[in-house]
Amino acid sequence: MLKRKTILLTLFFVALCYAANACHVLPKQKAQTNIMTDKPYPITLVIHGGAGTILKQNMTDSLEQQYRQALEQALLAGYAVLQNGGTSLNAVQAAIVFMEDSPLFNAGKGAVLTNEGTVELDAAVMDGKTGSAGAVAGIKTVKNPILAARKVMENSPHVMMTGTGADAFAKEQGLEIVDPAYFITDYRLRALQKILEQEKTDTTGYRIELSESGKEKYGTVGAIALDQYGNLAAGTSTGGMTNKRYGRIGDSPIIGAGTFARNSTCAVSATGHGEFFIRNVVAYDVSALMEYLHLPVQEAAKRVIFDKLLPQGGFGGLIALDQQGNFTMPFNSEGMYRGYMNAKTAKPQVFIFKDE
Ligand code: ASP
Repeated sequence: MLKRKTILLTLFFVALCYAANACHVLPKQKAQTNIMTDKPYPITLVIHGGAGTILKQNMTDSLEQQYRQALEQALLAGYAVLQNGGTSLNAVQAAIVFMEDSPLFNAGKGAVLTNEGTVELDAAVMDGKTGSAGAVAGIKTVKNPILAARKVMENSPHVMMTGTGADAFAKEQGLEIVDPAYFITDYRLRALQKILEQEKTDTTGYRIELSESGKEKYGTVGAIALDQYGNLAAGTSTGGMTNKRYGRIGDSPIIGAGTFARNSTCAVSATGHGEFFIRNVVAYDVSALMEYLHLPVQEAAKRVIFDKLLPQGGFGGLIALDQQGNFTMPFNSEGMYRGYMNAKTAKPQVFIFKDE
């Protein structure tokens, strides 16, 4: 009788541990102390929801509120993971999944449309501790592309998968598959219509991007995090740019361009006109300036965004975070949806415009 009771109790305990672990509430490792400062690592989450011509006068109060709320909720979702002893990778993932599910951002549901009126999604994730990375590009049926990027990183020997192959892999991995119509919103249909109209009279070749208001807006989403074990992670997810065609891929899923993480330097996620970010290897450049010139993260990011990209006409911004919890959110466009949460802030801090 006693033996049966012991077995039942043991089974109950094992099940409890398993459930807790599956929900990421049990830390798999112990919190670490930063040997440089002799203090615990300050858990931090920083996110962006895209940069571009985001001006107060072009936005209704209600839309502004919706954006602020969505950014706050994404921060809360990701920060809860860190607070409960979860990893930076899981925090990044939770914040991005929230923004992919929101129709407000150019990622997952609500992504911009290609020239054919379809949605082709790109995403990447990188682990600053191990240097492993995963990315998907041009996928059409995976509800949350960031989860597909994570599966590539963890369950395949590759870094990047594209198109139908990547969709098939994600399905095999058990990720949620949706009808491509799920991603399409009226707002993005109107934006495509507008640019197609403009194209008829434009002789300079095909153009990409231009929001409904006729101004560039890049609504890509990204998150970077530092967990209590001192590990950095970065992730980015996007629909790319309106009216893209011929299988165009931007910087977001390209490791080193739109996404990068290395514990010894920083975690970076970028948003902006992807072609410029690819040519300038932006995310890696921030890390390299820190590694080779020993610049602080703020200075390294500022140099890339203002001294390198701006003179070339490369508009956009990025978020970057180091292992001490120092972070920066520079952009050379009119605005950038952005925010952060750390131990010093009781509430999520979110910003949209330049003068905030
Ligand atoms: N960087 C993305 C791309 O070029 C667009 C964006 O940031 O919204 O695909």
